[in-house]
Amino acid sequence: VAKKRGGNNVVVFTAEMEKREQVRVAVEMNLLTAIRDGSLTVAYQPIVDLRTRIPVGVETLVRWNHPTLGPVAPELFVGVAEATNLAGELGDWVLGEACRQFATWRAELPAGVMDGFAISVNISPVQLIAIDFVSTVANTLERYGLSGRDLILEVTEHAVVSDDAAARTTLHGLRALGVAIAIDDFGTGYSSLAQLKAFPVNTLKIDRGFVLDLGHSLDDHAIVRSIIKLAESFGLDLIAEGVESEEAAATLVELGCRVAQGYLFSRPLPAEKVAAALLSRSSGTAWTRRATG
Ligand code: C2E
Ligand code: MG
Ligand code: MG
Ligand code: MG
Repeated sequence: VAKKRGGNNVVVFTAEMEKREQVRVAVEMNLLTAIRDGSLTVAYQPIVDLRTRIPVGVETLVRWNHPTLGPVAPELFVGVAEATNLAGELGDWVLGEACRQFATWRAELPAGVMDGFAISVNISPVQLIAIDFVSTVANTLERYGLSGRDLILEVTEHAVVSDDAAARTTLHGLRALGVAIAIDDFGTGYSSLAQLKAFPVNTLKIDRGFVLDLGHSLDDHAIVRSIIKLAESFGLDLIAEGVESEEAAATLVELGCRVAQGYLFSRPLPAEKVAAALLSRSSGTAWTRRATG
């Protein structure tokens, strides 16, 4: 147990902090190897139409199963990658993997199944300000035969509003490719209405912190209602994150949000299992977890 200098807060070095330090070292030493040796993978979480429960897209979520540390939380190793100059390498790999998989689904599934279906990829603030990011995205789309409309890039509120000229230029470049921009974890940052208006954003993703308890918390209800009104006034699309209950889903529909993701519909899945979810688009039947058996 150590005492933080100059404060009253006692800092306890927990097992979690120790793991964090191990992860930091492991990321620095092994992330590039992990990318090459296949211990890094991606999972895809279906994003569904709340009324039909039919998927309209998937969010790509990176996974790392370290040989000795076991599964490492993405928030942990993505953060370390950002702090150690590896965010670009990691992000390029995830983007390539997502686009490759999207192209595979389109090639293997019946014609039309992928129409209007988009793949979302999270990007780090570091990627957004990299000088060559727009051309990286353009080249990746071209390599796999995707159009800009197939792709949604999720950026955090902070990255978008940091008033960085480079970020702004990148966002305009991405929009010119037809790529949609979503603000992730919306409501947890500090964007102003003026900034929202000034940036070329298409979609707000309502942070799961407001959604998890939506059926029961009056505060969350008020916050989510405001975010939905805001999106309507600015002509933005909405995706609610973290829908775990039928109450939350029903409340969202009632408030005017049509699209969501969450454990109620599906956990993030390996690529093979997403194909079953995609097939429900052609049959028009609501997809449930059972269908992926
Ligand atoms: P995010 O982009 O907001 O992703 C949504 C997170 O919520 C995912 O956690 C997902 O598994 C989780 N989630 C989905 N539905 C539910 C639900 O109903 N209940 C609860 N409690 N959680 C739900 P995950 O996969 O652990 O990712 C955490 C964060 O790590 C992501 O948050 C994102 O910020 C970051 N991340 C993941 N993959 C990447 C990546 O490839 N690049 C970058 N830059 N960041 C990534
Ligand atoms: Mg996201
Ligand atoms: Mg989010
Ligand atoms: Mg998040």
